Amino acid sequence: MIGWRFTKPILLAALAVTLLSGTHHVKPKPGEPLANQLFGAKKAGSKQKPQVYGYYDNGCVAGGEQLPETGPTWQAMRLSRNRNWAHPEMIDFIKRLSVEATKHGWAGLYIGDMTQPRGGPMTSSHASHQIGLDADIWMLPPKRLDLTIAERESLSSISVRTDDQRNINSNWTPAHMEILKAASKDKMVDRIFVAAAVKIEMCKRAGKDRDWLAKIRPLYGHNYHFHVRLKCPKGSPKCISQTPIANISKGDGCDKSLTWWVTDYLNPPKVVPKKKTKKKTTTAKPKPRPRKAREFIMADLPRQCVGVLKSK
Ligand SMILES: [Zn+2]
Repeated sequence: MIGWRFTKPILLAALAVTLLSGTHHVKPKPGEPLANQLFGAKKAGSKQKPQVYGYYDNGCVAGGEQLPETGPTWQAMRLSRNRNWAHPEMIDFIKRLSVEATKHGWAGLYIGDMTQPRGGPMTSSHASHQIGLDADIWMLPPKRLDLTIAERESLSSISVRTDDQRNINSNWTPAHMEILKAASKDKMVDRIFVAAAVKIEMCKRAGKDRDWLAKIRPLYGHNYHFHVRLKCPKGSPKCISQTPIANISKGDGCDKSLTWWVTDYLNPPKVVPKKKTKKKTTTAKPKPRPRKAREFIMADLPRQCVGVLKSK
C-alpha cells in the first residue's frame, strides 16, 4: 500500500508543476492582449513594496528598482530595451560584484538584460528574467565606463569559448574565474549559468576550495555572458524557489553530468529504432501544450501580477 507519507511528495510535486507551467487550460479570449505586451509597455516599476510573485519563468516583481545606467563600477548595456530593472536585492548584488571586479583588473562590469520594470514575460529572448532575480553579465572586461548610449547599443560582448563549444578560448582569463567565484560565494546567489566549457575549465583550476563550484551550472549558450540567479529574497513569501542544486547534482558538479555537455549533447549517440508496435487507437483528446512565456495571458501568471501591472 502506498501511504500518505509517499503520496504527499508526489501530490506536492504535481502541484508545483501545475504552478510552474501556467494555467494553460484558461483559453485566451478573442483579442485578449498577451502578458508580454502588457508588461513590455510599462516604462517604470510599480510604486509598491518590493515583492516577488511567482517563479523565474512565470511571475512579476512589485517595487522594481532601476539600476542607474552608469555607476562608479558598472554600465548597463542596451538601454533601449529598458531591462535594467530588478528587485532591490539584485541591484545591491550588481553593485557588490562590480566592486569585486575592480579587484581583478577590470574597470567594473557591463550589465546586460535584467528584468522589465515590473518583470513579467518579455517580447523577445529569455523565458526567465521575469521576477527581478536574474541578470546577464557580459564576459567582455570593461576597459572604460564612459560608453555613450549609442556605443552601448552597438558594442558586442565576446565569447570565451571555442566555436566547437568544447573548450575555452583565449578571451578567457583568470579574472573571469575570480569574478565568477566571488559571485558564486555571494550569499544571495542561488546559481549561475555558464557555458559547459567554462565550468570544465573552472573545475580544473579550482584546487581544494571548490564547494562554491556547485552553484556554477552548465547550460547551452552563456559564452558571451554569465547569468546570475538570486534566491528568493526575504519578505517575498509568494516567490517560488528553484529546486536546490543538492537535489539535482552531486558535490561540485564536476562529473559526467558536466562532460555530457561536450560529449553526448554535441554528438548524440545513435538510437536504435524500436520494433514498430501496433498503434493503440484512443479516443482521449491530446493534452494541450503548455503555453510558452511569450504566449502567456494574464491568467497564466500569479494573480498578484494583475495588481502589479495596474499599480501606479
Ligand atoms: Zn539570462
